[in-house]
Amino acid sequence: MSERAAPFYCPYCGDEDLRPSEQGHGAWECAACNRAFQLKFLGLLARNVQRTDTGGDSI
Ligand SMILES: [Zn+2]
Repeated sequence: MSERAAPFYCPYCGDEDLRPSEQGHGAWECAACNRAFQLKFLGLLARNVQRTDTGGDSI
């Protein structure tokens, strides 16, 4: 799984002029509002998990 995630818009001002920051891994800088932020992968959500066991005899 790739750790790279590129944002398309600045989460603060919505501008698209983003560039990778040297602050660290996953850090980005917005040239429009001069904000630096960092993306972090928190984990997978537990929802939308479907059961695969189809007990045909239960009906
Ligand atoms: Zn911005």
